[in-house]
Amino acid sequence: MAESAESSKDYFVTTVAEDHNITCWGCGLRLLLPSYAPVFKCGWCGAITNQNVNKPENKWLWGRRMRDRCFVIILLTFILFVICGGVWAVYPVVFSISYTLGIVHSILTVILAAATVSTFCLSSFRCAGTPPTVFWGSYPVVGKGDLDNYTFCHHCSKPKSPRAHHCNSCRTCVLDMDHHCPFIGNCVGASNHRHFIAFLFAAIFSTVYVSIMSTYAGLHIWPPVKYRSIGHLNGFSSHIATTKAFKEVIIAFASSSVQLSARGLVLVYLFISSVSLQIGLGVLLWQQLSYIYEGKTYVGHLSSQASGGGDHIEEKDCQNILRFFGCPYSISRYFPGLRNSPKRHTK
Ligand SMILES: [Zn+2]
Ligand SMILES: [Zn+2]
Ligand SMILES: [Zn+2]
Repeated sequence: MAESAESSKDYFVTTVAEDHNITCWGCGLRLLLPSYAPVFKCGWCGAITNQNVNKPENKWLWGRRMRDRCFVIILLTFILFVICGGVWAVYPVVFSISYTLGIVHSILTVILAAATVSTFCLSSFRCAGTPPTVFWGSYPVVGKGDLDNYTFCHHCSKPKSPRAHHCNSCRTCVLDMDHHCPFIGNCVGASNHRHFIAFLFAAIFSTVYVSIMSTYAGLHIWPPVKYRSIGHLNGFSSHIATTKAFKEVIIAFASSSVQLSARGLVLVYLFISSVSLQIGLGVLLWQQLSYIYEGKTYVGHLSSQASGGGDHIEEKDCQNILRFFGCPYSISRYFPGLRNSPKRHTK
């Protein structure tokens, strides 16, 4: 560790035979290092300087942006298709069965559609989390420990807080970055993490509802299924009989599905897509909740794995989940108190 030139000049002048003069990017003080050190921390402001910097290159940025925009358009179109297609295919069936059921179904549809679209837009179009603006570069302005564990982001050309991570797709540093999600075309960070989790919940509830309603409406309009008599199977062993009966039911359903109307086909498509989405979104939500429970982010998890996992011992606690959803996101999280916060970033 190097000390600042001011506070320990005498000490280094007498003991360092071959000194290495380096200026701290954080406070601008000249540091004297006993030997060449590629990475060192300033004893005054606490900023970390890394001299092995690979010049940042933004390869495939254009491709990543196009991919993100395409995904967002596809996903929004799909959500609108599910809402409009579901309304078109399910409503006549539900209202033909019972008027009350139709009203209840309408209310639930409006609530779920509004929740899904609004949380999607919030997580997609909201800024993911801008790191706080800090003063840097000159000694009297930067106080002792002001830039503790800050590194310098060579992409943004400004200080990067220990809780921030640079996203190459968004071309900015993001506070408490969890991951860059191509489907929302945005990073998931301090400002939109809760909206993202809310979107996952809303999307899962909506797809469960879509699968229930499409099954219910589908069974009502399904063309009559003609079973052949399975009496001739009585002589076989029960296992073979069950297999044959199962095959006959499948064949009967498949042959009657040929007569399905366009409405029936939309219902079948809605059912298959909503069930597969439920599985995918459920796995993602489970993974997200387990990271929140452990008090870390996905990026933090990756970097703790890369560094052997020994840097920080995160406390696994249900309080982490309550804190995540409970307390309002406030500016105070940026300031020195954040070091006591259980949600920490590994560098
Ligand atoms: Zn410094
Ligand atoms: Zn950056
Ligand atoms: Zn990003």
